[in-house]
Amino acid sequence: MKGITVLGSTGSIGVNTLDVILRHPDKYHVKALTANTNVGTLLEQCIKHEPEYAVMVNEEAASKLEKELKNKSSSITVLSGVDGLLKVAELDDVDYVMAAIVGAAGLLPTLGAAKAGKRVLLANKEALVMSGKLFMDTVEENNAELLPIDSEHNAIFQCMPTDFGKNVEALGVKKVLLTASGGPFRTTPLNELSSMTPDQACAHPNWVMGRKISVDSATMMNKGLEIIEACWLFHVQADFIQVVIHPQSVIHSLVEYNDGSVLAQLGNPDMRTPIAYGMAWPERIDAGVERLDLFDIAQLDFLAPDEQRFPCLRLAREAMQQGGTSSAILNAANEIAVNQFLEKQIQFTDIARVIEAVLENVTQHEADSLDIILDDDKLAREYALTFIKGLAA
Ligand code: NAD
Ligand code: MG
Repeated sequence: MKGITVLGSTGSIGVNTLDVILRHPDKYHVKALTANTNVGTLLEQCIKHEPEYAVMVNEEAASKLEKELKNKSSSITVLSGVDGLLKVAELDDVDYVMAAIVGAAGLLPTLGAAKAGKRVLLANKEALVMSGKLFMDTVEENNAELLPIDSEHNAIFQCMPTDFGKNVEALGVKKVLLTASGGPFRTTPLNELSSMTPDQACAHPNWVMGRKISVDSATMMNKGLEIIEACWLFHVQADFIQVVIHPQSVIHSLVEYNDGSVLAQLGNPDMRTPIAYGMAWPERIDAGVERLDLFDIAQLDFLAPDEQRFPCLRLAREAMQQGGTSSAILNAANEIAVNQFLEKQIQFTDIARVIEAVLENVTQHEADSLDIILDDDKLAREYALTFIKGLAA
């Protein structure tokens, strides 16, 4: 029986994770659930899953949840703040930690889980993008296990040689092909992009996801972050990874070998597949996912990405190639820009402009410590907000 902490349990990945756990009560039980402010959903999840701990980052929300649980005579311990997240990521009797908080807010508890030597089920790509080497070193030094949940990286992991280690080229790997749906604006006329609304950006053709990652998919910054994520996970350089637009989202990524073989992982676009894979690895369990019917799909298409339409792809590659804290700066600028777009403060096409300006103006440093990374994250956020004020003026 494996004990699981689900960081970000009220989100899209969190809810899918709980669905998989419920299908296997003999194998997994929930130790802790966490959320930011959503008391109603966390309360429902607490009643259904009976964890030992529930964490609400927001203090007020935590008091509210505590009161509600007391009224139901529940013995669940309610914690709050980042300290609460850290505590449940590191608990002795937790085996697996699902890292499904969105954005930089997930960095500390995800890193905490790695430090505590847990199996880290990594959905929170921003944490790895920010802390790259530091995160990978922490995993290695503490004998933690890192299983990618992002569907593309999960696919690549499945197509890589077993125990691939740090030199995949020595094992015959020539290239990683990272697939992308192209998002909702793949064919929108370029001159209409600036007037696209948050709701249009969040209407993803194949996946139902949180709003931040949905906007990232529309700008293709999601793929940019995923290039960086893949570089760290599979110990390759950015130019080893080719982005392929594949609008059907059936092939989740591919690995090319030097003998001409190309291995791919296919499946319906349902995050319960990579989640179940990460939980059961190296075994397989039922994930409740509808079977793939190739006759139903009939056709698969592949196109090269258009970097004029999607400048965020270039910005992410450049940040990765620059190294140091550049990726953390890119991520911070993107989080601010996406948030301001969702709040209708800037236009869709301003997102890339904000990020480019921040990358040009915030000095990057060697990413030697968490403090340096967090400092540059903060400076990038401040610069992004100042730049956005200038746009409005
Ligand atoms: P979501 O917005 O649906 O959920 C986010 C979760 O994080 C919620 O539980 C929320 O309470 C919590 N949260 C938000 N802000 C927080 C804060 N400041 N402190 C602590 N907790 C906070 O997001 P999602 O779509 O589930 O995505 C989660 C992560 O997984 C993201 O990093 C995303 O890039 C990644 N991911 C998601 C998908 C997907 O299909 N949704 C696929 C691949 C990767
Ligand atoms: Mg993905």
